[in-house]
Amino acid sequence: MNVPAYVVGGYVRDIFLKRPSEDIDIVVVGSGIEMANNVAKKLDDPKLSVFKNFGTAMLRCDNMEIEFVGARKESYRSDSRKPVVENGTLEDDLNRRDFTINALAIGLNKNNFGKLIDSFNGILDIEYKVIRTPLNPDTTFSDDPLRMLRAIRFAAQLNFEIDEKSFNAICKNKERISIISKERITDELNKIIMTKKPSAGFKLLLDSGLLEIIFPQLAKLKGIETVEGKKHKDNFYHSIQVLDNISEKSDDLWLRWTALVHDIAKPQTKKFDEKTGWTFHGHEVVGSRMVPQIFREMKLPANEKMKYVQKLVALHLRPIALTEETITDSAVRRLLFEAGNDIEDLLMLSVADITSKNPEKIKAYNKNFKLVKKKIKEVEEKDKLRNWQPPVTGNDIMKTFDIKPCYEVGVIKSAIREAILDGKIGNNHEEAYKFMLEKGKELGLTVKNIS
Ligand code: ATP
Ligand code: MG
Repeated sequence: MNVPAYVVGGYVRDIFLKRPSEDIDIVVVGSGIEMANNVAKKLDDPKLSVFKNFGTAMLRCDNMEIEFVGARKESYRSDSRKPVVENGTLEDDLNRRDFTINALAIGLNKNNFGKLIDSFNGILDIEYKVIRTPLNPDTTFSDDPLRMLRAIRFAAQLNFEIDEKSFNAICKNKERISIISKERITDELNKIIMTKKPSAGFKLLLDSGLLEIIFPQLAKLKGIETVEGKKHKDNFYHSIQVLDNISEKSDDLWLRWTALVHDIAKPQTKKFDEKTGWTFHGHEVVGSRMVPQIFREMKLPANEKMKYVQKLVALHLRPIALTEETITDSAVRRLLFEAGNDIEDLLMLSVADITSKNPEKIKAYNKNFKLVKKKIKEVEEKDKLRNWQPPVTGNDIMKTFDIKPCYEVGVIKSAIREAILDGKIGNNHEEAYKFMLEKGKELGLTVKNIS
């Protein structure tokens, strides 16, 4: 078959970056679908999916996905990132790519097999670690504004810099991001959050002005106010530092999200007190309440992951508070009860939250933290409060006093829980049962069945 074909884009880039990649994109100057059919015939067990409407075909083989597409030329209108597409040459196809490092191609035909086509000096940009658009950046970003986020995401992932002209064009075109769907924006944001050092991406988002548009609540954390010579820390830089810290310990997207938004309500709760200086009372509660709206706006799922973020934001000060007072069993028990299985993540977050530069302070925190952890372990082994199940159930209560579901059942249940958490009774059936009988008596109930 004598149709020109090239491997292009991310796969070629990743060869030079020495990064593994599983998706191969092949551009055919002709029909991508026909080429895919012909290649499939030569393979043992090919899995071919054809997308007629897009003129593409996907071949799955071993662990690889190979996509075949005809070379295309694109022209854009101002209200959409979906271009008008027509057949084109390889050159047209490379012209429409977002960055020089993504516009590399390698020949696959007999006459040019293995030959690199690098029309925009992409290899040099890989060497110098630069993100740059192949054509006029203003047009490139205005045509498809998602590319602005891709630029920042690649810079963050690869530890590259964005070329000055390209960066200025992002600043200029930032408002255009509004034509991009929230899902795509969040997709890129999540990729930035998942990089090794996410603060780099967030600084670019802030400096370009994009953050203000796509995540205004976070952008609002930026800034330092001074009253009577007293200033507070910049909560934007603090938050992305905490995100970096947690990222050294965990690859969990939702724990990383928690780190990013743990102080999100500081602007709303900020007060200056003559005696104590700056305070942010209740920011953990208000912040936790802000999470569902942020998730809604970002089109993130409203599921148990969101609840996890909410819970950890609400609890994020608790382990630190424990280090400041004497660490009582009952305070530890309450924390274990509320954090449940997420106690380790909460502790990780608390450690990450320490961004002080003062070595004495850090030392003191760390010492106390060791104590807290030890105490948690002891209480946990003794009281088994993680995933706590009441040792006396609502059914037990109803049966004992021969009553239907009512207010008193709730009162007795929570009294038992509180007594256990306060350490007044042990976390076992026997003590809880005895306590229930006493409580029932107090409430004027009579015992009808003894078990
Ligand atoms: P990754 O797979 O890590 O997200 P990638 O560069 O492979 O990175 P893909 O979305 O898989 O990204 O796209 C493959 C190629 O298609 C890119 O390398 C680039 O050449 C081109 N491309 C993708 N999205 C765009 C875009 N919005 N504008 C221009 N070219 C794009
Ligand atoms: Mg890819």
